[in-house]
Amino acid sequence: MATINDNYLKLKAGYLFPEIARRVSAFAADHPEAPIIKLGIGDVTEPLPAACREAIIAATQEMGDRATFKGYGPEQGYLWLRDKIAQHDFQSRGCDIDASEIFISDGSKCDCGNILDIFGNDNKIAVTDPVYPVYVDTNVMAGHTGEAKDGKYEGLVYLPISADNDFTAEIPSEKVDLIYLCFPNNPTGATATKQHLKAWVDYAKQHGSLILYDAAYEAYITDPDLPHSIYEIEGAKDCAIEFRSFSKNAGFTGTRCAFTVVPQSLMGKASDGSDVKLWQLWNRRQATKFNGVSYIVQRGAEAVYSAAGQSQIKDLISFYLENAKIIREQLTAAGIDVYGGTNAPYVWVKTPSGLSSWDFFDKLLFNCNVVGTPGSGFGAAGEGYFRISAFNSRENVNEAMKRIIENKA
Ligand code: PLP
Repeated sequence: MATINDNYLKLKAGYLFPEIARRVSAFAADHPEAPIIKLGIGDVTEPLPAACREAIIAATQEMGDRATFKGYGPEQGYLWLRDKIAQHDFQSRGCDIDASEIFISDGSKCDCGNILDIFGNDNKIAVTDPVYPVYVDTNVMAGHTGEAKDGKYEGLVYLPISADNDFTAEIPSEKVDLIYLCFPNNPTGATATKQHLKAWVDYAKQHGSLILYDAAYEAYITDPDLPHSIYEIEGAKDCAIEFRSFSKNAGFTGTRCAFTVVPQSLMGKASDGSDVKLWQLWNRRQATKFNGVSYIVQRGAEAVYSAAGQSQIKDLISFYLENAKIIREQLTAAGIDVYGGTNAPYVWVKTPSGLSSWDFFDKLLFNCNVVGTPGSGFGAAGEGYFRISAFNSRENVNEAMKRIIENKA
């Protein structure tokens, strides 16, 4: 019999979203008439922008004609898309990022996990607590941790984020090699100022650390003073990889397109002590294990950068941000403390009356038929908090808030 990767057995059995699904289906089975509204998951609800759909249809037509048919594309993505990203998302903000440093992929979730392929097994790894669970679980799978104890894996450095530190991770006192940062943050909806990111870049440069910067929600930043990319900070090209996605700005969660920026100047240490370009390793990894995103989807993503695409994604983001505003205002009026939700699609709620995250989940489900996400599912320091997502129809958001207020949840 083939042996297995035992590290998978360390993964916590009651993983957050399956447990939510289990509780919701048990409730729905007992109350089949209950009009459940789900404000739990981070999936978008509004359809693909017209500009993207039109580009996808035109590309599909091209695939039906021998003269314009495309087979395998470049594993790194088509240059016309990488060029547009480099110009629009980085160079226009003063970031010195070149198209060659952009790798198109089918999702930042995959990239956040796959990136571990190019790193050694002896790095000290830091994550925030609470955290997007993919960073932790992929490290568990790769054997970079010990067992889980009290909601934390041995071997990982956890950086707590809470109202006490304004939901921004404090710089660790010890030296770590890899640090995952996510701004705007999932789950807390917090953002990072340039000063905060500069402190991280300074720390990374001083200790030879690498920052894995997840900017999947960058498009939700409306405050002109907040940085959209870590490369807006001087020196970040020497110490950071950035993950971006078309999922949350253009509704590509089901269409799948994202990209990762690996600057040519980034170096890692080989076991013989020599310095090696991380770009070279990631390029090799992608060329070997990935065969590119479909031509049709890349054309759809390219349309995000057209004038029509830009205006349509702006409308989409404003729509979700207005939902977040309604959630914030209504919950505040109900006497509940809320955070985030101004430059992010997530509102992070302090559970009222000292309820645990799961007790508040059950209360909302049973009394209001509203589903959210218990903060404790994102890490031990998320206990006592609750995430409400703004990804839903206006009607559902209004109805959910009305029920919460009427039931004095
Ligand atoms: N990064 C963060 C912080 C996320 O919250 C998500 C999805 O919810 C992703 C990455 C995944 O993005 P993608 O759809 O591109 O895989």
